[in-house]
Amino acid sequence: MLNKIISNILPYMPKKLVWVFSKRYIAGETLEDGLLASKLLNAKNIEVTIDILGEFISTLEEAEQNRNEYMEVIERFTADKIRGNFSVKPTMFGLLIDKEACYNYMRDIVKMAASKNSFVRIDMEDSQCVDMEIDIFRRLRTEFPANVGLVVQAYLRRTKSDLEALNDLNTAAHPISFRLCKGIYIEPESVAYKGYQEIRDHYLDDLRYMFENKMYAGIATHDKYLVEEAQKMIREMNIPKNMYEFQMLYGVTPELRQSIVDEGHLMRVYVPYGQKWFNYSTRRLKENPKMAQHIIKALFVR
Ligand code: FAD
Repeated sequence: MLNKIISNILPYMPKKLVWVFSKRYIAGETLEDGLLASKLLNAKNIEVTIDILGEFISTLEEAEQNRNEYMEVIERFTADKIRGNFSVKPTMFGLLIDKEACYNYMRDIVKMAASKNSFVRIDMEDSQCVDMEIDIFRRLRTEFPANVGLVVQAYLRRTKSDLEALNDLNTAAHPISFRLCKGIYIEPESVAYKGYQEIRDHYLDDLRYMFENKMYAGIATHDKYLVEEAQKMIREMNIPKNMYEFQMLYGVTPELRQSIVDEGHLMRVYVPYGQKWFNYSTRRLKENPKMAQHIIKALFVR
């Protein structure tokens, strides 16, 4: 209840106050911040995926600028030998303004990543974007089979059939690469499962489908139950290490993260940076069960 009230007032809170809670989820505002956080994670035997913040833009000029920023970070990753890849949100390249322009900007990025033997993951946004994002992924994957992957959301009712439909792209030489997450956007019940355990059950069902069909799985979750069930599945199905990785968000559940690394699994952390941190971090704050406590403390305890 308290979390719900705070969720509603978050957008109206002073940016400075929101930053106090947000900074744990964001590497910083600049490229150098993103590189430094990535290097520190690499030093802990953790790979990264970089996300430049910004989404749902309103002009294509912004899309071009975003494309250029990604080109720069790809260059710097190679020059600095950082172990990691790149995550992109199609709406930051104008998906909802001009789909073809968005495709072309994203193609530039994937082409650049391919030239460096790297990889780009297409984040999945809200349900209005799913068909278009799958379509862009299909086109890019056909041209760059080793260099592009997609996110799928276990809470969507359609996800299992999307996986089945995309299976036609899967090959032994280039297993299709998915990140599986629960899904973060607020969706109507007609579109998304709502029950906590129901979403977990679908998550595990989707993961099993990926393993059975020899797809590469990025297991993106901080839910200890899902981590343990996934590890059990990996053992029971004898899944080789080159067919999966675990993924977590910057600043979330570092102890659980470390325990997975210590057990010898590949871990990748999603490292967001940039000036447009407000939308990303308020979504994260709403997920943090301790958020209400922290915010009330900060408001009253000086
Ligand atoms: P939850 O049940 O939400 O969390 C499990 C536990 O983790 C909580 O009980 C709590 O202890 C801890 N926890 C979770 N979140 C926080 C937090 N913010 N602060 C502190 N503790 C926390 N969603 C999309 O819709 N599209 C994407 O492209 C996408 N990409 C993602 C990439 C990665 C690498 C990850 C890890 C998540 C991504 N997500 C994406 C978000 C995802 O869909 C979930 O909303 C998010 O991961 C929370 O779900 P959970 O599985 O961690 O389980």
